[in-house]
Amino acid sequence: MELIIVWLLCGVIAGAVYGNKGKSSVVGFLAGIVFGPLGILFVLVTPTDQAAIENKAIQSGASKKCPHCAETIRVGASVCRYCGRDLANPVQVNKRCPSCGTMNIDKAILCWSCSTKLD
Ligand SMILES: [Zn+2]
Ligand SMILES: [Zn+2]
Repeated sequence: MELIIVWLLCGVIAGAVYGNKGKSSVVGFLAGIVFGPLGILFVLVTPTDQAAIENKAIQSGASKKCPHCAETIRVGASVCRYCGRDLANPVQVNKRCPSCGTMNIDKAILCWSCSTKLD
């Protein structure tokens, strides 16, 4: 009887670990039930499916993609943790250089193209 409980426990643990890795927790559960501790070992050595985890997070609304570098970040983030860019206030590129006509960001002091002073 105790052995069954241990095996069931193995299934639950393996299922949880496998699910956290972006895989099917049902498959992990079955692996734990069938192989016991070996099943847990199996799910532990299985590489994490990062893409699946990110897709799940995006679908659940917990994450979004950074518009600058396309990495997955938290929805509430105001600065991307990958590229460090500001997400709350996207950089505005509205300042036209009077000399060469190149568009510069609003905060620019000099034109990035010809170095003319912008006002
Ligand atoms: Zn980014
Ligand atoms: Zn210019």
